[in-house]
Amino acid sequence: MSIIEQMHQELQELKERSNLRSLPNMIHDGRDVVVGGHRMLNLSSNDYLGLAADRSLREEFLDTLTPDNFLPTSSSSRLLTGNFTVYDELEAELSHLFGTEAALTFNSGYHANTGILPAVSDTQTLILADKLVHASLIDGIRLSTARCIRYRHNDLTQLERLLEQHSTEYRQIIIVTESLFSMDGDKADLKALVRLKNRYDNVLLYVDEAHAFGVCGQHGLGCAEECGCISDIDFLVGTFGKAIASAGAYIVCRKVIREYLVNRMRTFIFTTALPPLNVAWTLFVVRKLSGMQQLREHLAHLGSLLQTALRERDYDCPSQSHIVPMIVGPSADTILRAEQLQRHGFYALPVRPPTVPEGTSRIRFSLTANVTEEEVKKLIEHIG
Ligand SMILES: *Cc1c(COP(=O)(O)O)cnc(C)c1O
Repeated sequence: MSIIEQMHQELQELKERSNLRSLPNMIHDGRDVVVGGHRMLNLSSNDYLGLAADRSLREEFLDTLTPDNFLPTSSSSRLLTGNFTVYDELEAELSHLFGTEAALTFNSGYHANTGILPAVSDTQTLILADKLVHASLIDGIRLSTARCIRYRHNDLTQLERLLEQHSTEYRQIIIVTESLFSMDGDKADLKALVRLKNRYDNVLLYVDEAHAFGVCGQHGLGCAEECGCISDIDFLVGTFGKAIASAGAYIVCRKVIREYLVNRMRTFIFTTALPPLNVAWTLFVVRKLSGMQQLREHLAHLGSLLQTALRERDYDCPSQSHIVPMIVGPSADTILRAEQLQRHGFYALPVRPPTVPEGTSRIRFSLTANVTEEEVKKLIEHIG
C-alpha cells in the first residue's frame, strides 16, 4: 500500500471511531463565538483574564503605535539581526517581576518546551516527568538524549522513590511538571517538589506555568509566586498565548542558564524571532498584570462556584482552579451533554480519549474573568 493510500485508510478508521478531527468554522465576537449561525458564550477559551476579548485594551495599545514602531516582522533570528530593543525590555521586565537573574523569551510554549530540555540534558541525564505533562514537554523529552521515566500524576511518593533509586546513577536528574494541569485543573504541590529536589545536589526542577501565568499569585506570576518558591525552580517556564492574550513564551532562570540556551537551544537559534509589534503588545499586557488582582479573584470565585456545584451533584471533580472538568465517562454521553449545553448557549467542548484516559470523557469548562456569576449559575442549572 502506498503512503497516500495508507493516509486514506487511517483517516477512514478515525472517522469510523468518531475520532476524526477537523478545523471548526467559527466567528469570534468578544466573549461569544458564532458557530453555524448559533451564538454561544465561549467556555472553551484560554483567554483566562478576558484580555483578548477586551476591545478597550486594544484601543489603548493602538494609541501607542506609529508607523515607526508598528513592526510586523523581525526579519531574522535574534542571534543575527532580529534582536529588537523591545525584546530586551520584555526580558528586563520579566526578570524584575520574578526577581530572577535573567529571563529569555521564545516564539511559543511549544518552542520553549521542545528546545530547553534537549539543550540542557545529555545521556548522563535522567528526566522524571509527571504522567500528565503537555505534549510539547513530551516532544522535548523525545528530542533529548536523556533517559526518561514518567511518574504517576502528582504522585510524589513514587517520585521520591525514583529519586532515591537513581540519584547516584546519573550526573543530573531533571523533574518536569506543570504547575496547573490543563485537563483536570488541579495543581502540583510545588513546595513539596522543591523540598524533594533540595535533598539532592544533582536534581533540577522544570515547571511549566502555561495555565497559571497571569491567573495565580498576588501579581499574576503563577503558582510559583503563590507558593513562594520562584527562586527554587531552576527552569520556570510560562506562555503568553493564554491569560496574556498574546503569543510567545518565557523562561526565568539564572544568568548561566540563559546564556547556555542562547548558545545551545535549537528552537531559539534557528527561527525568526516574533514580530516586535507582538512583543510590544506582550510587554504592554505584562506591565498591567499586577493590577489585575480583581479579575483573578473573580475568576477564582467562578471556579469554586462551579467545582462546588459539580461535587454537590456527585461528580468527581479534581479541579482546584478556573479549569473545571465535568467527568461524564462514556464518550457518546459526553458528546450529547456538550451538545445540550451548546443548545442553551454555552460553548463547552467534549474531551475524549486519547487526550484523556479511557472512560473519563469529560466536558472541559475553561472559565474566563469576563463571565459573570449569573452566567455560571445559569450554566449550573443546565447541568441539572
Ligand atoms: C498551551 C501550552 C503549551 C504551548 O504553548 P504555546 O505557546 O501555545 O505553544 C505548553 N505547555 C502547556 C502546559 C500548555 O498548556
